[in-house]
Amino acid sequence: MLPLIMHSKGSYFAKVKSTSPLVYFPLNEVSGSTAINYGTLGTVANGTYIHAPTLGNPGIGDGKTSALFDGVNDWVDVLTNPLKAAFNGSAGSIMVWVKGDVSPYWWNTTGHSWFNFKVDAANIFSAWLANGVLNGGYLTTGGGSVWLETQQLSENSGFVPVIITWSVSTGLISMYINGHLIDTQAITAAIVGELTVAGWAMNNWFSKGKGYMAHCALWDRSLTTSEVLILSSPNKDIFRGLVLTFDDEFDGQYGFFQYAAPLGIKGTIYVTSDNIGAAGYMTAAQLQEADAAGWLIAVHSKDHTSFYGLSQADIETQITTCQGVLSGLEMTRGIYHGAYPFGAYNPSTAFPALVATGMLDFRGTHNLSSLDTRTRYKYCWGLSRYMASGDTLAQVQADINNAISEGGYYTQLIHDDSGVDGWSDANWQALCDWIVANGLTTVTPEDIWIS
Ligand SMILES: [Zn+2]
Repeated sequence: MLPLIMHSKGSYFAKVKSTSPLVYFPLNEVSGSTAINYGTLGTVANGTYIHAPTLGNPGIGDGKTSALFDGVNDWVDVLTNPLKAAFNGSAGSIMVWVKGDVSPYWWNTTGHSWFNFKVDAANIFSAWLANGVLNGGYLTTGGGSVWLETQQLSENSGFVPVIITWSVSTGLISMYINGHLIDTQAITAAIVGELTVAGWAMNNWFSKGKGYMAHCALWDRSLTTSEVLILSSPNKDIFRGLVLTFDDEFDGQYGFFQYAAPLGIKGTIYVTSDNIGAAGYMTAAQLQEADAAGWLIAVHSKDHTSFYGLSQADIETQITTCQGVLSGLEMTRGIYHGAYPFGAYNPSTAFPALVATGMLDFRGTHNLSSLDTRTRYKYCWGLSRYMASGDTLAQVQADINNAISEGGYYTQLIHDDSGVDGWSDANWQALCDWIVANGLTTVTPEDIWIS
C-alpha cells in the first residue's frame, strides 16, 4: 500500500538510488571525462563528458556538485550496450535538475535540448527549451508525436527538477516540474528499435543546453506520483505520523478513545477546564482513563474565550487556570501543550503568554497539508484537516496519503461524534481500522515537541 520510498531516510542520492533507476548520473564529478553511473546497470553503463563541461559547480542543495554545459557542444553521452539492451521502449521515466546560466540562459532563437533518447527520426524521447519556453516532453513513435504543454521558466528560478513519466499500457505521458503535474497527453505506441543516441544536455537534433544539470536518471518504468513528489524535493522530510486531535472534550470523544486505544492509536484531547464533567462533555474520570492509556490531555483554555481580543495577562490566566485543573486531577503530561480556542490568536499577545506559561507548542486551525518539521513553528502549527460532518472517509484517506507523500506529520481535528463539526462513530472506527491496516504511526504533541 505504501511505497517503500516513503520510509527511506538519508540523502537525496540515496532516495534516487532506492527507486532503482537503470542509470543515474549525479554529475558530481569534479574532474575527468567519466560520469559515473549509480543506477542498477552499474559502472559498465558509465557516461562520458563530451567537450569538457565545467565540473564541480554548486548543486541543488544536497551537498553534491553540478556540471555546467556551455550551450555550444557540451553534453554527457550515456549510450552504452547495457543501456541499449535495458532501455524499455514501452514505459519509462526520466529526470533532470536544470538551472539556467547567465543570459541568454537556456535559450536563444534555437532550441536547447536537455536530454535525448533516440532510435531514429520516428522513435525519439526528448525535451528542450526554445525561446525561453519549455517545450516539455516530446515523444514520437509509430503512434505519432506527442508534445507536452509548455511552461515558462524564470532565468532566476534556480535548480528545477523536471520529471517525465510515460507508459504505453496506461496510455499516458506526464510532465512534472517542481513536483507539479504540468501536462498529461495520450500515447499509443512504444519506441521501437535500438537506441542510437542517449544523453543529457545534448543533441544531434537541436542545440545543446546552456546551463547547469545534476541528478540525471532514467527508469524503465513509470514512477508513481509519490515517487515524483519525493524526488522533486531534495530535502523532503520523511513521513513521521498522524496527529489525531480533539478539541473541547465533547462526550463523543470518549467513544472515539474507547475504540482507538485498544488498537494502539493515540490521540490528544484539548480541554476547556470549566466544562469538565458538564452535560455533553467528558468527565474527569474519563479524561484520566484516556491519560492513563497514553493519550495526551492538553490545554485549550479555562472557558473557551477567544484569545484574539484578550490581553497577554488574560491569556495567561486562561492557560494557567486550565493547567491548574489538569494538574489537580493528576494529568500533567499535557499541561505544556495547547490549542487555541476557535483557532484564534494575536501573535503579539498570545506568543508572550505562551512563553510565560511554559507552553511548548500551540495548535491553530489554519490549513496545512502537512506539518513540515523543517518549517514548523511551535506556536502556530495547523491542521491537515478540520473534520466536518460531511467529510467522507475517502477524503480523509486522501489527505493522509498526501501528507505521507509530502512528509512530516498529518494533523486532524475532530470535535464530536455528531453535529456540524462532528464525525460519526462509524467513520471514526473505519478510519482507525484503516490506520491499523496500513501500519501508520500515531503520535501526540508530546512526541513531536519534547526534545
Ligand atoms: Zn475549542
